[in-house]
Amino acid sequence: MRFAEVAVDAPTGSGRTFSYAVPDGMDARPGHLVQAPFGARMLQGIVFTLADAPQVDETKDIAAILFEDTLLDDTRLRLAEWISEYYMCSLFDAAAPMLPPGGRVRPKTSLALVNADTDTDTLTPLQKRVVEYIGKRDAAGQVAAQERLVKALGDSAAASVASLVGKGIVRRDYVLSDPSVDYKRREIVSLNADKAAEIDDWLNAKQRAQKQRGLLERLLLECGGIDAAAARKEYGASAVKALLNKGWLATQTATVDRDPLDGRVFERAEALRLTDRQAAIAADIRAAIADGSDGRKSFVIQGITGSGKTEVYLDAVAECLRMGRRAIALVPEIALTYQTIERFAARFAGRIAVLHSGLTDGERFDQWWKIRRGEYDIVIGSRSAVMAPVPKLGLIVIDEEHEWTYKQHDAMPRYHARDVALRLSELTGAVVVMGSASPDVATYFGGLRRRHSLHLLTERFADSGGANAKRAALPSVSVVDMRRELREGNSDMFSRALSSALDECLASGSQAMLFLNRRGTAAFYQCYSCGYSLKCRRCDVSVTYHAKIKRFICHYCGNGRKPPDMCPQCLNYRMRYYGIGTEAVADEVARRYPNTGVLRWDRDVAASPKAHEDLLRRFRSGEARVLVGTQMIAKGLHFPEVTLVGVVSADIGLSIPDYRAGERAFQLLYQVAGRAGRGKREGRVIIQTFQPDNYAIQAAAAQDYQAFYTREMAYRREQANPPYSRLIRLLYAHTNQARCEGEALRLAGLLREQQLAWGYSDVEVLGPTPAYPMRLRGRYRWHIVLRGAEPRALLDKVDAPRDWSVDVDPVALT
Ligand code: ADP
Ligand code: ZN
Repeated sequence: MRFAEVAVDAPTGSGRTFSYAVPDGMDARPGHLVQAPFGARMLQGIVFTLADAPQVDETKDIAAILFEDTLLDDTRLRLAEWISEYYMCSLFDAAAPMLPPGGRVRPKTSLALVNADTDTDTLTPLQKRVVEYIGKRDAAGQVAAQERLVKALGDSAAASVASLVGKGIVRRDYVLSDPSVDYKRREIVSLNADKAAEIDDWLNAKQRAQKQRGLLERLLLECGGIDAAAARKEYGASAVKALLNKGWLATQTATVDRDPLDGRVFERAEALRLTDRQAAIAADIRAAIADGSDGRKSFVIQGITGSGKTEVYLDAVAECLRMGRRAIALVPEIALTYQTIERFAARFAGRIAVLHSGLTDGERFDQWWKIRRGEYDIVIGSRSAVMAPVPKLGLIVIDEEHEWTYKQHDAMPRYHARDVALRLSELTGAVVVMGSASPDVATYFGGLRRRHSLHLLTERFADSGGANAKRAALPSVSVVDMRRELREGNSDMFSRALSSALDECLASGSQAMLFLNRRGTAAFYQCYSCGYSLKCRRCDVSVTYHAKIKRFICHYCGNGRKPPDMCPQCLNYRMRYYGIGTEAVADEVARRYPNTGVLRWDRDVAASPKAHEDLLRRFRSGEARVLVGTQMIAKGLHFPEVTLVGVVSADIGLSIPDYRAGERAFQLLYQVAGRAGRGKREGRVIIQTFQPDNYAIQAAAAQDYQAFYTREMAYRREQANPPYSRLIRLLYAHTNQARCEGEALRLAGLLREQQLAWGYSDVEVLGPTPAYPMRLRGRYRWHIVLRGAEPRALLDKVDAPRDWSVDVDPVALT
């Protein structure tokens, strides 16, 4: 008898597996996805190890293997163990992003009334509502899923369900369906070779059924057969059926590859001659790739926008492939970095897989399996692509290393793709190359401390093309003090400086970009009399007005509401709009320059990758001369005709209660500024702000990363924030405010008790405090932050309750 240690899809502690027996005849191996009974239910699980003896006396059998192939190799099993341990989640959660898309199926809990006419007199009001909810579904012949019921009736409903089950009023069943995604198959019809002579005779005779004749003649030409559905459409279903009945046709199923890059043609490009600086960095990276020994090898390239970091990545990839190994290239968000894919595709046509959330499940499924079989040499994708099953991994490139999208913060595992990449490097010897104009200060710090080898690229490469490329100067940046504009009587959204710069830019035939990190028309709708500002019904935040659709939208949950006639608080009719968004800016530009095309680029108008591509093309073609956008336009875009970048307001986000607000503002402004003057003409940047003295704004204006780094690190050290400490954030959410606060106080008290008892004086317990926003999607949120050199040690002393979410190394404390 063989036994397996299986990580099941249940909220277990980190690193936990359970022993199962492997039934005779089942070839279960480490890395297999299986179904296994767990308590009263059937769950998915992943086999981690095999053993001759179980860890416990009583074991159940593994019920089934879900994919014939093992899904995780040894490296990924070790990686999952690390993720589970480091990010404090179950092993299954840790491994789930490494499964084929659609492979994970969560168990559902369905509820039904034992008796249709239950007597509800003795029940609590909430229990009555639960019974009513289930009764309604039952009557309608629908399944009442517990997960949906809790969403509808609030978190406390789960306890009510449990007690109703105890009383025998409600029956609970567990359902686990098979994975929903599979290969796409189609039916092919071809001639049955055994009947060739018969068919020939039939065709040689005259006046035969024309449809059947047509199909047979066609199949004589197409030896691989043709699509059955197409054949039925063209020659009629009865002709196909008749020929099948005669046994003259054979059918078979073929797998159709759903390839997201199918049909796209990329211009080919050869490697460029690297500059001396680029070549020096490339040589270092090449040496590390060729070295082939185990152990971590990581590089940080701090290179200003347009300095040729991408050329260095391409060189590294070429070297990696030359060594017979494969590469992963991570980009923050695929739709916004489409130009990066194009450049990779131009150099490595046909060898690239893409993985990101914009693909259909089917496309991702097919890409995943092809990657696993080694049919691609390079995988480009967003965050989760770092988990792609790439065999013989030799290189991981992380472009725009500082981007926050690399951290998954809203679901388990709350991993950072950069740290996972570094761990993979330790496991496989793959080289990690991180590049950015404004690296995360913690990464740069790691470079200075020689945890990574650090390289700088300080000069821009001009886009004049070919051999006589010349270096382009950085744009000139000026900061406009909007307080002064107001004092001097200008209350427009554009300062006088930005107004005249726009006039000049458009008069000279150039293009301009206007940046504002807020969508919509107006930021607030506020009452004149009582100061109330209209809020979302489910979140504790002001809603933003969107004039085009005449609705207020919550930018946290997406909920909309109509403009109210009067102030909901004091019932006065004196509500006013305050603050602006991209929609207002675009309208203003259109009003001032009626004959200049204006494009707006934000999540409202560009939800799909296709929409991004469209906008990109339209702006590049010159059809529009002004582009107004949110941070989407800050990312990596390269428009040579843009000579003016205006930051309409640099202040949004600066005052968020988070130790990284300054860093975020700097990175954004620095990137936005980098969009100007990427062509032959000189670029100009104007930053409007009410806080002209803020260090982040000053450093961005000076285009000086090192200056920002020095100031930021001084603050970090002073306040003992990362990288001078580590953070763990514990968040509790509940639909009931008092319950939420009570639970937060309880856990904080417990942590402080343990801190005293064990003498962890070097860990701080911060909070509990309400998170920001305090209420989100109908649930109140409180959090506790642990800060110190090893905050984990303290957390391990308490049983972190399951319904808390734990975020190790959070990127934001809001
Ligand atoms: P980054 O990734 O740092 O923003 P890019 O790699 O996009 O910089 O380079 C900016 C521009 O300069 C691109 O158009 C690129 O083709 C060009 N370029 C960079 N390095 C070279 C080189 N060695 N020879 C010719 N052109 C180069
Ligand atoms: Zn909301």
